[in-house]
Amino acid sequence: MEHVKKPEWLKIKIGTNQRYTDTKRIVDTHRLHTICSSGRCPNLGECWGKGTATFMIGGAICTRACKFCNTQSGKPLPLDAEEPMRVAESIRLMKLNHAVITSVDRDDLEDLGASHWAATIRAIRELNPQTTLETLIPDFQGRGELIQMVTDTHPDIISHNMETVRRITPLVRSAATYDRSLSVIRQIADSGITAKSGIMVGLGETPEEVEQTMDDLLQHGCSILTIGQYLQPTRKHFPVAAYITPEQFTYYKIIGEKKGFTTVESGPLVRSSYHAEKHLPNH
Ligand code: SF4
Ligand code: SF4
Repeated sequence: MEHVKKPEWLKIKIGTNQRYTDTKRIVDTHRLHTICSSGRCPNLGECWGKGTATFMIGGAICTRACKFCNTQSGKPLPLDAEEPMRVAESIRLMKLNHAVITSVDRDDLEDLGASHWAATIRAIRELNPQTTLETLIPDFQGRGELIQMVTDTHPDIISHNMETVRRITPLVRSAATYDRSLSVIRQIADSGITAKSGIMVGLGETPEEVEQTMDDLLQHGCSILTIGQYLQPTRKHFPVAAYITPEQFTYYKIIGEKKGFTTVESGPLVRSSYHAEKHLPNH
């Protein structure tokens, strides 16, 4: 595919302020992995400057290898039993009102990492009873009993990303399927917890396909959607097919909210955890 030139609206200002420096220090000294840095998120300056970060649990190595993702893939290290406590402690030190947790996929583990997830959420709750919590979970291979281990801990929001439209899913996601991800959303919504999902655009999808994904998500009980521009992390990753214009993003927001989402966060730099605190059911 031909190389597409990056437009002006994607040039990023990485600001540094005291809050950014403090956040970085806490993350580094607690040996934590954040999706902000491993995913080379374009909002890192803004979010860390405000004291918000998305923690990635389960180690830094993913058993899957999606073509858009910059997380290292391969054979992960054994789980670190102290990680739940370290994440909880960091959230306390960072005085976060809202924390976002995600993980690599641990297809190597018998329970795919579900009990580690549950232990982390419990530790965060115990140490930070005032902090609201969003968890961005893997598909747990569609195993309902494992998804339930997370829903039983009652995070405020549970997200599971579709990542892209149906047609492009097998081209970029390494093991997940479109229908399985929809079923994860269904189970979250049926548990009574706010279900959220996210997609990237600029992978070659059409606006009609984006709208179809919106309809599919709504039919499965999803209430919050994020839409952001796909950025190729390195030249080895899936190429960008198009830079979607800010006007098209605005159109997606309007049409999505008209279709029935309570919130659609849509813009070139939107990531699934961007402005996450605004999405709480009571906001
Ligand atoms: Fe981190 Fe999410 Fe902010 Fe990106 S949008 S810097 S991943 S908290
Ligand atoms: Fe990245 Fe895919 Fe692993 Fe998620 S499952 S961390 S998107 S490689």
